[in-house]
Amino acid sequence: MTRDRVLKAVALALLAAASVTCAKAPKADYPAAPVPFTDVHLTDSFWAPRLEINRTVTIPHNFKESEQTGRIKNFEVAGAALGGATDGRYCSRFPFDDSDVYKIIEAASYALATHADPELGVYVDGLIAKIASAQEPDGYLYAARTIGGPPPQDWVGKERWSHLYMSHELYNVGHLYEAAAAHYQATKKKTLLSVAVKSADLVAKEFGPGKRTNPPGHEEIEIGLVKLYRVTGTRKYLDLAKFFIDARGKTEGRIPFTLDGKEQLLYGEYAQDHKPFIEQTEAVGHAVRAGYLYAGAADVAALTGDAAYVAALGRIWADMAGTKLYITGGIGAAGGWEGYGPPYRLPNASAYAETCANIATFLWNSRMQRLELDAKYADVMERILYNGVLSGISLSGDRFFYPNPLASFGQHERVPWFSCACCPPNVARILTSVPGYFYAASKDEVYVNLYAQGTGKMRVSGTDLELVQTTEYPWKGDVKIEVKPAREAAFTLAVRIPGWVLNRPVPTDLYSYMEPPGDDVSLTVNGQNVELPHGLDKGYALITRTWKAGDVVELSLPMPVRRVVAHEAVEADRGRVAVERGPLVYCAEWTDNDGRVSNLVLPDAAALTAEMKPALLNGVVVITGEGEAVVEKAGKIITEKKAVTLIPYYSWANRGKGEMAVWLPREASKARIAREPGLSAKATVAASEGAVTPRRVNDQFEPESSDDAAGYMHWWPKKGTSEWIEYAFEAPVRVAESSVYWFDDTGGGGCRVPASNQ
Ligand SMILES: [Zn+2]
Repeated sequence: MTRDRVLKAVALALLAAASVTCAKAPKADYPAAPVPFTDVHLTDSFWAPRLEINRTVTIPHNFKESEQTGRIKNFEVAGAALGGATDGRYCSRFPFDDSDVYKIIEAASYALATHADPELGVYVDGLIAKIASAQEPDGYLYAARTIGGPPPQDWVGKERWSHLYMSHELYNVGHLYEAAAAHYQATKKKTLLSVAVKSADLVAKEFGPGKRTNPPGHEEIEIGLVKLYRVTGTRKYLDLAKFFIDARGKTEGRIPFTLDGKEQLLYGEYAQDHKPFIEQTEAVGHAVRAGYLYAGAADVAALTGDAAYVAALGRIWADMAGTKLYITGGIGAAGGWEGYGPPYRLPNASAYAETCANIATFLWNSRMQRLELDAKYADVMERILYNGVLSGISLSGDRFFYPNPLASFGQHERVPWFSCACCPPNVARILTSVPGYFYAASKDEVYVNLYAQGTGKMRVSGTDLELVQTTEYPWKGDVKIEVKPAREAAFTLAVRIPGWVLNRPVPTDLYSYMEPPGDDVSLTVNGQNVELPHGLDKGYALITRTWKAGDVVELSLPMPVRRVVAHEAVEADRGRVAVERGPLVYCAEWTDNDGRVSNLVLPDAAALTAEMKPALLNGVVVITGEGEAVVEKAGKIITEKKAVTLIPYYSWANRGKGEMAVWLPREASKARIAREPGLSAKATVAASEGAVTPRRVNDQFEPESSDDAAGYMHWWPKKGTSEWIEYAFEAPVRVAESSVYWFDDTGGGGCRVPASNQ
């Protein structure tokens, strides 16, 4: 080789090294990376059928609803407007409806990554063409404004970015960036990615230090920008994500907006804009906004090593998991602002626990696990996934819950769609990517966070590794993990020992088990008990050794039925008990309990047994016990023996409307009496237009107080109108007296007792 050729070779090598450096993950990042869902294949009877229903029913259903409700047409109309048409009208209701289409494209892209489906691919290509046609020449993408004409809401704002508090301009494109990253990764096509890049470049040009400083009123773009940064390597997207997080709670450079007739600079607690992020200490406000902010901040913390972010996230997490987390993993007690209530205020029937808030908090916790390599976050993640996320979708895959209450008097039912349809596509994208939350890997460590039968492929300590799980989780707690490295290699297998098996339902004192822990967990490698000289490390059993193909790890997680009680400060759960088995929270539903559950009692002494029922609800373990029922018989209130049947919480509301309860009274005094029908209950109730649940007024249950949101009739959001209510009796009756119980949710919503009863 001549000197010249050597130099050329060196130069080429340098170039190659340079390009490798560019493509490599940045220096600072999560200490463990998720093993992508494309490398994890579930073959179990719990998740695999669900993922298939999600792919074959839920995703097409979401597309169909998006078509029928004008969400997709909006992009076509915006495209026509850019071509000069002036007669177009926005076809749906909310300016954030664009985001539903982005989310379902993200879900479809994940599906395409694991299942070849040319028809779906062509359909998505068509959608992307419509979206691209709606993008203005400088990159601006927001159908509601581009179409012009009367805005669908007064949220749009007069000019671009002028009403970020509610316009959702930046929220929408956040979901666009997530969809674009997913579509590019699945198909290697840059069609949607170029739309996203053009949009992000415009946002980066408009926002930043010395430019516009108003952050989005609804967070989400932060997560999207980080994904775009990872896909493109363009640093300014990461910087912009950090800028938006840092801009919260600061007035500097802000353009004022009008709220409740007043000019304001900050959006307040509702949008986590009450103080700078790094000074925040509590989980507050709208819970979906909050969850996306915290997840985005975790991403930025991992990629920048910002210790102040990590500290803030730790404080906020402790507040959330310690005082504001439902036992079902539900997030957000207050319907009034779709968000967090005060500490320990966790009402059951009126629990909001929006499917999207549960998902956002799931995403946040999965990031925290990889940031701090602590299983406590995986404990919360698992609780949310198996309970609060799965309850958001029917077993059939085409009916959805927006709020996920923990008690019902028959007013709740999953529906095919919502006018504000954030939840259905969100659950679709999470389910499609669920296998991606099972494992995380660093250079020489593999974290096993979730359990289900199937395989996971990853790279560790310079070798390809396959893990094969054989288990009937979540119904049985025995998990066999075959460890199959391509060649012998030394690494650590970090096996998560779930908190629920260590007598700790959540990693705080918010909930605790009534019974002492049962049998010990056992963990073996090739039949030998694993010695854990240092005990568990942050909830993981760390097994460090030289692994070779054929090594087998066996984990036995005892799954007795457990009773849970809440912290004494949670008034709604006082004197009540919830039942769990393994990662699943249980509930009593009307259909298994002779039509009623609000009068049931589960005494502490009642023995509970678990039994698999393969034909029920696609196969569930049912829990039964000898409980009690409080009833009125011949005018007397009595407590009688009554068998109580419990099903997994996620599976309720698949067999019609009726009562449901997660928290059952431990004593008769807490139960609602099943009364014999009195005079009022024999009447048919009608009310003026707009009345919601009129049958609540003669259900013979007296509320505990005027802010008992467990069941009431209302005309909200009507204000200052005259309304009527009518009792119709089959035959004339004599009414001795009548009274009205007024509902008032001051501090939680817009209903007040009347100023006067005249
Ligand atoms: Zn939602």
